[in-house]
Amino acid sequence: MKIVDVRIDESVLPKKDKDWKFALAANPATEGWIVTIRCEDGSVGYGYASTMNHYGAPHEAVKGALDRLCKRLIGRDSREIASILDDLDQAMHGNNQAKSGIDCALHDLRARQLGVPLCDLFGGPAVREFATLRILPIKSPSDMAKNARALADKGVRHFKIKVHGEVEEDVERVRAIRTELGPDAHLTIDANQSYAAKDAIRALNLMAPYRIDLAEQPVEVKDLAGLKAVTQAVPITVEADEAAYSLDQVTILVRERIVDAISLKITKLGGLRKTFAAAQICDAGGVRYRMGAHVGPMLLAAHAMHLAAALPGIWYASELSEFDGLAEDPWEGLKLVDGVLHLSDAVGCGVTPKPAAMDSRRKSA
Ligand SMILES: [Mg+2]
Repeated sequence: MKIVDVRIDESVLPKKDKDWKFALAANPATEGWIVTIRCEDGSVGYGYASTMNHYGAPHEAVKGALDRLCKRLIGRDSREIASILDDLDQAMHGNNQAKSGIDCALHDLRARQLGVPLCDLFGGPAVREFATLRILPIKSPSDMAKNARALADKGVRHFKIKVHGEVEEDVERVRAIRTELGPDAHLTIDANQSYAAKDAIRALNLMAPYRIDLAEQPVEVKDLAGLKAVTQAVPITVEADEAAYSLDQVTILVRERIVDAISLKITKLGGLRKTFAAAQICDAGGVRYRMGAHVGPMLLAAHAMHLAAALPGIWYASELSEFDGLAEDPWEGLKLVDGVLHLSDAVGCGVTPKPAAMDSRRKSA
């Protein structure tokens, strides 16, 4: 089935919370690009390429990489996913965010051609329901506790507390949220590299009595020795996120036992195929893994959910419902009830553009 057209459409989606911050930046909107691949028979697949400044993938650079890479798809047989992705890796080093958008669109296209759910391409559904972890952006401890309460009232049971390298204030954030939510909530923290190793050890030991299930990327990406020291010194599962920025890097983190767990994201690892491989490396090396924050529209979450469905070894709640924090999402098809995502038997990734979004795409074509 020959590929005859690839479109790249901008996707800039404001969040409900205009004051959304984490340790590295303020992000009032979610930015990326939609990749639409069309075959000669009219079959179509969709993918989302994320703008990720903190992974070295600014908005314009992702578009530039997509422009160059997508040209190579025209005329190719859409069944040859492995061969096409290998060609893209040969043609351009890195640029995993752009490649992820293409990888996802190719898998979505193939699944729709075959009339099967996308997870069938990776072994079929082992999991059908996903309790999702929601992010609490950085604010004062009392405001974060209020936001946690609002999410808990919507059914959310897993929370990620963003912290920013100030030990006492960060511990107070954790204390305030635990006090607000009570003993049943599952709490994690994400420092986004903001601690020195010794401060991370001090902070996590002070947070441990409030029962933290997981601590994400406490120190800088380049400080693997510090990351390992934190992992060995605290009674909390330590997870690499930014440090697990490629399949090669996942291999190093697992081989050297630098962390207890790894946050897998299709966006940073270059798509579904490489993320599936990363999960196998973690499994083989005895390191835990789950799907980390997939910040984007429902389309991105749908791809990540289908891969998660085929990974029965995922140890903890994944982050697959950040689309719920968008002011408006131009995609539809996922079922999120009481903080739990439900896999359906719809073909492909199960998500399609809303009719209004299709109209605006036609006008701009
Ligand atoms: Mg993170």
